[in-house]
Amino acid sequence: MNRVYNFSAGPSVIAESVLKKAQAELVCYGDAGMSVMEMSHRSPAYQSIIDETEALLRQLLNIPENYSVLFLQGGASSQFAMIPLNLANGSGKIDLALTGQWASKAQQEASKYCEVNVVASSKDKTYSYIPELDKSKFNPDADYFHICSNNTIYGTRFATLPDCGNVPLVADMSSCILSEEIDVSKYGLIFAGAQKNMGPAGLTVVIIRNDLIGKHRPETPTMFRYDIHKDNGSMYNTPPTYSIYICKLVLEWLRDEIGGVAAMEKINHEKAALLYNYLDESEMFKATVQGIDRSYMNIPFITGNEDLDKAFVKAASANGFVNLKGHRSVGGMRASIYNAMPIEGVKALVDFMKKFEAENK
Ligand SMILES: *Cc1c(COP(=O)(O)O)cnc(C)c1O
Repeated sequence: MNRVYNFSAGPSVIAESVLKKAQAELVCYGDAGMSVMEMSHRSPAYQSIIDETEALLRQLLNIPENYSVLFLQGGASSQFAMIPLNLANGSGKIDLALTGQWASKAQQEASKYCEVNVVASSKDKTYSYIPELDKSKFNPDADYFHICSNNTIYGTRFATLPDCGNVPLVADMSSCILSEEIDVSKYGLIFAGAQKNMGPAGLTVVIIRNDLIGKHRPETPTMFRYDIHKDNGSMYNTPPTYSIYICKLVLEWLRDEIGGVAAMEKINHEKAALLYNYLDESEMFKATVQGIDRSYMNIPFITGNEDLDKAFVKAASANGFVNLKGHRSVGGMRASIYNAMPIEGVKALVDFMKKFEAENK
């Protein structure tokens, strides 16, 4: 069977060359005489895999020296508890922008440990925009300010960051990490589940400014302490060894085949423009998000007719464009066009949509 164009929101498409490299090395990695899956995480061969993965990530994102990179498990969702347990220990209050389901989950989880001040919300319109952030509502004593940089389900993104002064900015970048250049020094903590832009599920990456480490609440479970993971080089216990190895291959692909994050950003902008331009001129399909808030990674769209939406998703799938059904909470369609979705995939999708539109007038 041929590979399809996979528009899944996550786990999602991985570059074919990465999969082929993994396949070639699956049974015997280098001269180790065994698969990476079978290796002790304490072996020198594995140590160099995790070290290279970290070095690549540091290089690609230009991560300053005073930040640590942690390779964890538990998904981005575990961070919703881990972050307040480790960071909300000064005033016991945090600020949060409520821009979707993931921010809402972060809010609910943090509320168990601290007071959450929702500075703005776009819930009134099904999170289809990024709300105006009014600085007078920010708490200067907040322990951190939480945003979800790219809202995977609703297809919105923060085009500008909140100006929260000395309050550490915490960003959920699960669905946009490595998709565009960022200035890591503007953040206190960045976290991301790997399964959208970095590799397979099972790995969660945390990039944290060192001065924020070691201030956890006393009741924090050992496995939820950033200092424990930092002091043990992400090997306090067995890390998700194989997922980290695939992440390394993805980062090598990004560096060597794409040319780095700036080059990736350019391609991502071209990809998104192709689809948005068509959506804006189509008489059948329309984007649900407008203007500057539009995501480059997740593009939701509708026809306005549920039966037609269903017919489109079915026809698309039959033609090799899969996982275009929108999230169950919003309906319609959503094309997730992460880093590994080639521009040819987006072009082919737009051509298919044009054909569908012409045939179903
Ligand atoms: C996918 C996603 C999550 C959840 O990730 P898990 O690894 O499944 O916990 C959280 N936040 C955002 C923005 C996501 O896209």
